[in-house]
Amino acid sequence: LIYDVAIIGGGVAGLSALMYAGRLELHSVLIAKEMGGTLTLTRDIENYPGFKHIIAKDLTKKLLEHARDYNVEIRQDTVLKIEPNRDMFYIETKKDMIRARAVILATGTERRKLKVPGSSTFENRGIHYCALCDGPLYKGKKVGVIGGSDSAVSEALLLAQYAEKVYIIYRGEMLRPEPINAKRLKQFENIEVILNTNVIEVIGGKRLKKVILDREHNGSSELELDALFVAIGGYPLSELGRHLGVELNEKGEIIIDRDGKTSIRGVFAAGDVVDSSFKQAITAAAEGVRAAYSAYEYITRERVFTCDDPQYLKPIEISAQEVMNKIKSRYKTLVLDVREKEEWIKERIPGSIHIPITELKNNRELLDDAEEIIVYSKDINCPASTIAAKKLIEMGYCNIYDYKGSFADWKSSSFQTEQTEMRDTG
Ligand SMILES: Cc1cc2nc3c(=O)[nH]c(=O)nc-3n(C[C@H](O)[C@H](O)[C@H](O)COP(=O)(O)OP(=O)(O)OC[C@H]3O[C@@H](n4cnc5c(N)ncnc54)[C@H](O)[C@@H]3O)c2cc1C
Repeated sequence: LIYDVAIIGGGVAGLSALMYAGRLELHSVLIAKEMGGTLTLTRDIENYPGFKHIIAKDLTKKLLEHARDYNVEIRQDTVLKIEPNRDMFYIETKKDMIRARAVILATGTERRKLKVPGSSTFENRGIHYCALCDGPLYKGKKVGVIGGSDSAVSEALLLAQYAEKVYIIYRGEMLRPEPINAKRLKQFENIEVILNTNVIEVIGGKRLKKVILDREHNGSSELELDALFVAIGGYPLSELGRHLGVELNEKGEIIIDRDGKTSIRGVFAAGDVVDSSFKQAITAAAEGVRAAYSAYEYITRERVFTCDDPQYLKPIEISAQEVMNKIKSRYKTLVLDVREKEEWIKERIPGSIHIPITELKNNRELLDDAEEIIVYSKDINCPASTIAAKKLIEMGYCNIYDYKGSFADWKSSSFQTEQTEMRDTG
């Protein structure tokens, strides 16, 4: 089974790409460790056009529902490696090996960890990375948020609904919330902003008790806290792309062009993992859709066939000249002599092999490796190739060509010349 497109990532970018790929009738699969991605870390979305307010997990649900409206496949799995092989990508996951003609990388980001003495000791015992997930544990307590972005401010606004006191600790001179969040910040009396300050150590017993600041605050460099939420951004999960050889920028983000294409043919990318400066749910969605459309153009313009295409549900008759053109093309074409007795085909057609019909099932590995399969019969009256072709289609293969040959075809003058050339070059 070969997919047209494999989408890696189940965040906004991946799900939007899947919806669009499905809509374009690409044979599509989405593989993700966790559905929803970064949206699972937040609650309220107020800047996704068309929704004045939507709960983040409801947005994920809607994106999933929309994608599932089409004939697409979703797998919960982790992609370990992607290897290109001619025009195909072999996607190794924890559970499986998946093949696709195009790949969309929508792997997003990983939260940046706080790296100061004590921070790893108190992870999940006071050090947290998601206010939505862990904030409710600190009802009536004192908590801190590290970071100065709009996301950090959003985290503080969420925490202020539970905690008695919230400190935003930021190393810069000014927070950078969106204006609407800046106004909200002023309405919460229990939020205090500490600027130009770094947390340099985390101290506690069984749980976090206080943090040490590199500047005094209210006459002390110690700040008592029950929890510290880290919101200092993320780094791109671009390792799969790096391994494939796609071009990355100095931050490790995947460089894409306006069509979502990476530097490698057949590999597209979208969302937080790419080199766009503005990263939001709506931009991830738009990039996902654009990547899907580019993958569609790539597949339809350059590959012309898909497994679901009804014309490939029956073998296609092919002439001797077409056989030769296919062998010379860049696709992995396998020519099979399926008659019980092997005759002259093997030595005349480079790369061709003999597998009798009864043995097809025992040669899956070889068949899986081919992008197109040509089955050969001796002449128009010989049914072997058609029987074999139908069997191959039943076995789940597509792009099966039925060549009913004869010696006369192969002896035609132009064809003979090409044949000789091919043999000469090995
Ligand atoms: C606290 C916070 C608040 C935010 N608030 C807003 C907001 O109000 N409005 C807004 O528009 N944006 C907001 N954002 C930003 C927004 O959430 C992101 O821009 C968007 O969700 C990114 O989507 P994505 O699909 O690119 O990546 P992600 O959502 O990160 O998805 C990545 C996906 O890839 C999967 N993955 C990664 N590696 C692998 C692998 N090897 N194998 C299989 N799967 C893999 C992950 O499991 C996940 O499914 C916020 C972000 C944060 C952190």
